[in-house]
Amino acid sequence: MQDTTALVFSEYSSGHDTGSHPENQARLNAIRQRLKKDNLLNDRMVYYAEPVDPEIVATVHSPELVDQVRAISADGGGAIDADTIVAPGTWEAALASVGAGIKAVDLVRSGKHNRVFTLTRPPGHHAERFRQMGFCLFNNVAIAATQAMTVHGLNRIAIVDWDVHHGNGTQDIFYVSDRVLFCSVHQWPLFPGSGLENEMGSGDGEGYTLNVPLPAGSDDIDYLSVFDEILAPAVRAFQPELILVSAGFDAHRDDPLAMMAVSDAGFRRMATRVRDWANELTDGQLVLMLEGGYNLRALSESVAAVLEGLDRPAPSERGNQ
Ligand SMILES: [Zn+2]
Repeated sequence: MQDTTALVFSEYSSGHDTGSHPENQARLNAIRQRLKKDNLLNDRMVYYAEPVDPEIVATVHSPELVDQVRAISADGGGAIDADTIVAPGTWEAALASVGAGIKAVDLVRSGKHNRVFTLTRPPGHHAERFRQMGFCLFNNVAIAATQAMTVHGLNRIAIVDWDVHHGNGTQDIFYVSDRVLFCSVHQWPLFPGSGLENEMGSGDGEGYTLNVPLPAGSDDIDYLSVFDEILAPAVRAFQPELILVSAGFDAHRDDPLAMMAVSDAGFRRMATRVRDWANELTDGQLVLMLEGGYNLRALSESVAAVLEGLDRPAPSERGNQ
């Protein structure tokens, strides 16, 4: 068992060429450069995702929505809405971004790694079952969770979404499910406008959606108290078999798209909290998937900080040394 967090990249991500859009390939380039600079890619397994069969995407999204991305890509690109762009290479990039999450789940379920972090684009958490929006085409984390249930036979998956925007797509997809606990901490009000505390799931899913809207200006202390006082008890009560994280870095104080005040160290502490829950509840099995984060320095420093935190021995392990 390798206990260093493994990474999944995708050579297809750059094909999602969005030009001067804030969600562009420079984000991943900055992360890679940052990780190389501090030798954070040494002694770490790095995998590359391949495009998945579109049928897998259609287990979560409507076939029409999947076909729309294929058709716009084949036509040379276009826009789904004012925010959400499709380039000629987007079809394969989006299928490979889905593939990254599935590969990550396969890697932790096979016992090869405890923790895997996917660093691909396009992101996914705003993509609803029947609607694409907010830079997101296919909901990578929701498809990874679905595969964990259908292929790996899991029954209880916790998704923690710390992207600054509400994960409306993931909420939508699992709103009536009691097999996925979806927890989102986000700035409110902010795009997409959903994510109020009274959105708690419905039918069998009632009580399995947990939204924590926070005011602009919330900082490390605010976030960590939410993690400790609200998320930790909920995740423990749910007893997940696997934890997935929608890891956006746009709650950073330097991010241009939101107004939160989280630091690099704040993201590291959030990640180690989730790592400790995984060690306690899921035999350490944890998958993080990149969502937003639009200040290149803040994004790359925060990803480096998260990796450093995840791979630092937990207090219990340190006590045994
Ligand atoms: Zn975001």
